[in-house]
Amino acid sequence: MMKPQYRRILLKISGEVLTGTGSYGIDPEVIREIAQEIKEVKALGVEIAIVIGGGNIFRGVAASSKGMDRASADYMGMLATVLNGLALQDALEKMDVHTRVQTAIEMREVAESYIRRRAIRHLEKGRVVIFVGGTGNPYFTTDTTASLRAMEIGAEVILKATKVDGIYDADPLLHKEAKKYDELTYFEVLNKRLKVMDATAISLCMDHHIPIIVFNLKNPGNIKRVVIGETVGTKVRG
Ligand code: UDP
Repeated sequence: MMKPQYRRILLKISGEVLTGTGSYGIDPEVIREIAQEIKEVKALGVEIAIVIGGGNIFRGVAASSKGMDRASADYMGMLATVLNGLALQDALEKMDVHTRVQTAIEMREVAESYIRRRAIRHLEKGRVVIFVGGTGNPYFTTDTTASLRAMEIGAEVILKATKVDGIYDADPLLHKEAKKYDELTYFEVLNKRLKVMDATAISLCMDHHIPIIVFNLKNPGNIKRVVIGETVGTKVRG
């Protein structure tokens, strides 16, 4: 029997991992694979909360650089996370995993509003909770949302699922000689300006001692490996 190292985790899924081979939108096959992995981790008895990004559909910064008002563009980005969250909920429920979607931007017909105590209760009852709508505020990111929600619900770790194997000293897709770090401190990430999470997200984790593990979601079984304590990706801590 594989023993999980964590009781409650916060899984951050970037929008870009949902696109599969394309560069836009949601690939249903990819969503199904992710849902299957989440189901397997759930079977270990781990409580799972998820923060989902929206970059596969809309990014506020990108739109504002083309002349759109930044706050309006960010609200569109937050709505994009709702689309992703509902797609993941659908895939999980089809596999008989009970879920609740909670949104930071109220939309009663679509999802529950974010209520911290309610989210914790869902987790205790064994439901997977998917947080959408980011923080509900423009000028933030879903990485910062992940740090914030992890603190609020008392998650022991943030698992940041990406398209690369961990944190490198340069972009591994552009530089063949880029070196992967196994471990880093929060300070190192901030000082070296490593593009793993924005500074607000890292600082929140640093202040509240929440470790972050950055790993590749494309390798099947990786979420489970991280949860049972195998060395996968890069760990960031104090
Ligand atoms: N966003 C926001 N406030 C938040 C979270 C997200 O304004 O608290 C907007 C922002 O425009 C961002 C977009 O939502 O570009 C999508 O989120 P993000 O870029 O973090 O998604 P990811 O990179 O994880 O796919």
